[in-house]
Amino acid sequence: MHCPFCNTQDTKVIDSRLVADGLSVRRRRECNACKERFTTFESAELVMPRVIKTNGAREPFNEDKLRAGLLRALEKRPVSVEVMEKTINRIKSSLRATGEREVSSKFIGNLVMEQLKQIDKVAYIRFASVYRSFEDIREFGEEIARLDD
Ligand SMILES: [Zn+2]
Repeated sequence: MHCPFCNTQDTKVIDSRLVADGLSVRRRRECNACKERFTTFESAELVMPRVIKTNGAREPFNEDKLRAGLLRALEKRPVSVEVMEKTINRIKSSLRATGEREVSSKFIGNLVMEQLKQIDKVAYIRFASVYRSFEDIREFGEEIARLDD
């Protein structure tokens, strides 16, 4: 790490602590040449892919939108906020794990459905009926029938 004052490479860490619930490390450094002190932050780069909407437009991933969709599906269902937040985190991890810079909104919809299927089947059907806009009633019926497997 170069000193931002004199640009020498010869700096040392004099203090190091975890911040933001352990998500970053704050380091206090001192330059061995000019003795100036400076601070660096280190954290994992958590880049969410951008979302390609069905009309082809791109937009940043929006966690609030995801949460709103889940809340709608889970309305009056016996699922705690904690479980819902964990679900959101799992979906975000899956999105990051793709390593893609862009993912389709359909891909996200499928991730949400996979998760909902495991936590609450009614919520799953609610979400699926909105997101997948089932082609016809029969397809919807088949999907519900499959849930009993
Ligand atoms: Zn220096």
